[in-house]
Amino acid sequence: MTVKLYAFTCGTVTGEFAHLMEGGEGDITVPIPVFLIEHPRGRALFDAGLHPDCQHDPAGRLGPRLSGLFRIGFKPGEEVSARLEAIDRDPARIDLVINSHFHFDHVGGNALIPNATMLVQRREWEAGMDPDTATKRGFNPRDFDLGHKLRLVDGEHDVFGDGSVVCLPTHGHTPGHQSLRLRLNSGEIVLAADACYFCRTLRERRLPRYVPDREAMLASLDRLETLEKSGARIYFGHDPEFWRSVPQAPAAIA
Ligand SMILES: [Zn+2]
Repeated sequence: MTVKLYAFTCGTVTGEFAHLMEGGEGDITVPIPVFLIEHPRGRALFDAGLHPDCQHDPAGRLGPRLSGLFRIGFKPGEEVSARLEAIDRDPARIDLVINSHFHFDHVGGNALIPNATMLVQRREWEAGMDPDTATKRGFNPRDFDLGHKLRLVDGEHDVFGDGSVVCLPTHGHTPGHQSLRLRLNSGEIVLAADACYFCRTLRERRLPRYVPDREAMLASLDRLETLEKSGARIYFGHDPEFWRSVPQAPAAIA
């Protein structure tokens, strides 16, 4: 069974480093990754990046709080649909969008993937559909409540039924955050997403400034560390230094 993985950078976000990692100094610009997974039984994205409106009116799209915290670097041609078209993949023929969670830099691009089924943890969906929780967690239903078919899962979930692509619950950053474990010919990879922004988040347990559930996040980091010790390569969610070592599409990671 051959699974292919491609990585794209769909813009950047700049903000205060200490907001994203305890002890960080100054500002940091981080990549917004999107992954394409090609499996014989279907084509999936893991996360979808920013909404295209962020290219011309980030404040209008994100609102005053988020646009006060982050400066968006996002040009036409960097949105997920353009990235796919650049390697001859039709955004209308993506079968699944697996969202790690409902923050704007992960789910905004769902709007550009019209025919996919959205696969998320049930807990995340329920948090997103509850107006109070959504506001508290910084979720905007306009990003994800778009009428996509839904596949809501509880905990670990084998996406294609053969163990090659598995959702791993890594809650804490948000109520239903999930990471993705991939078995490629070259070995095992875990796309951590925002369960682990940086390499140092894992090595030094330096958490972001605001963590809704600290204990759950620490337990998720323990889980990632265990996977790493068993041979998986962890892909950190927003680590610019790490990201420089990742082959970008059109090259496949494996
Ligand atoms: Zn993020």
